Amino acid sequence: MNSELVSPGRGINADVCVIIPAAGSGVRLGEPVPKAFVDLDGRTILQRCVDQVADLGARIVVVVPADLVDRAREQLAADVVVVAGGDHRSDSVRAGLAAAGEAEIVLVHDAARPLTPVSVFDRVIGAVRSGYRAVIPGVPVADTLKEVEPISGHTDSDAGDLPVVTRTVDRESLRAIQTPQGFTREALTAAHADDSGVATDDAGLAERIGIDVHIVEGDQMAMKITTSWDLRLMRQLLSTEAHS
Ligand code: C5P
Repeated sequence: MNSELVSPGRGINADVCVIIPAAGSGVRLGEPVPKAFVDLDGRTILQRCVDQVADLGARIVVVVPADLVDRAREQLAADVVVVAGGDHRSDSVRAGLAAAGEAEIVLVHDAARPLTPVSVFDRVIGAVRSGYRAVIPGVPVADTLKEVEPISGHTDSDAGDLPVVTRTVDRESLRAIQTPQGFTREALTAAHADDSGVATDDAGLAERIGIDVHIVEGDQMAMKITTSWDLRLMRQLLSTEAHS
């Protein structure tokens, strides 16, 4: 099916809820506050995420560390629902889902991707609306990918214990997956019903119970902030845009 499906227009997404899990500590970023509360050119990363989706007309639920619920409420518009998250990302998504109201379509969008264009949300919502139960954005992989064996101490060189390549992966069949990931409410609820699994994304949980997950086109601007390098890159990008 066409990956360019779009939702029929803004302001008619009253049946959509966007959950933004932002309850991680973001320790890899090395900042004194959790990642979502780090400043990115005048607004926090979380505020930027919320602002990006404000025009969709969807219900917005943000999930933050329990001790930052009040701060998030002060920083965000009154109609944004703020709830406390859990120890694992999937616990936080479940907390968000419990606050999704009447929504029939639920998107889960990592707070770590504050510049994701609204067109990606439109594509995901449009595809779920057209009948797919699980839809995720992806982009082709640019780098050559190799599978490696962990260091075993076994080496054919005197140079040391460097990991060894076991095979080259065919990158044509691979996609780097972004968020928002969109689901029918029923599919996301089913995917999260079994809380024994910890997955790095919600589609992984859906796949595990046999739900077909479909891909729409992602966007390079949906890049994720994980390290201080990512943050520097994003700040640079925003300052270049401001001066162009
Ligand atoms: O750790 P990672 O960057 O993969 O986390 C992805 C998203 O999940 C982030 O927005 C993070 O704040 C969120 N998260 C959460 N609750 C946790 C762990 C992560 O909401 N316990």
